[in-house]
Amino acid sequence: MKLVILGPPGAGKGTQADYIIKKYDIPHISTGDIFRENIKNNTELGKKAKSYMDKGLLVPDELVIDLVEDRIKKDDAKDGFLLDGFPRTVAQAVSLDAILDAEGDKLTKVININVEPEILIKRACGRRICKTCGATYHIEFNPPKVSGICDNDGTKLIQRDDDNEETVKKRIEVYFDQTAPLIDYYNAQGLLIDVNGAQDIDKVFDEIVAGLK
Ligand SMILES: [Zn+2]
Repeated sequence: MKLVILGPPGAGKGTQADYIIKKYDIPHISTGDIFRENIKNNTELGKKAKSYMDKGLLVPDELVIDLVEDRIKKDDAKDGFLLDGFPRTVAQAVSLDAILDAEGDKLTKVININVEPEILIKRACGRRICKTCGATYHIEFNPPKVSGICDNDGTKLIQRDDDNEETVKKRIEVYFDQTAPLIDYYNAQGLLIDVNGAQDIDKVFDEIVAGLK
């Protein structure tokens, strides 16, 4: 089962990814992890990637693709994987197809966790965190017993800087702008499983499993 998972920030993609890799016994391959791993092990690709990141530059597409190719050709990914954070663009998707095609292989499905922007904004802007114990709350969906106070230790809850409405809106806008062509690309190939991510976590997962049958 060779899968890609897509979803906007705040759609619960991480939780669903955890469920998927357990059920189907495949590795979770996120670009963030690949970068960290290669840099930690000081590989040739890692050194190259680090040279861009140290300068505050984006790692070029070509290098990202090389890193992903290197990772999905490792033994544990031979029978399947869940790609997360890649591809981000149609150009990357085309490269991924070419890499798989060269092995006579192709993607099984692309899971798209769909949540409307309004809901994502509501989810993110209502989030409150405790700096003392790391607990997270939501003013509407998961409120503390006493408003604004952590249940565990009585610390005053705060909102993360990047959870303010303007930043959240921008983040979500960028995601949808960037991803829309990718979704069209996979839809045209009949690979897309569109899942309603606004439901309970278990229901979202049920939809994914049904789509993969
Ligand atoms: Zn706390």
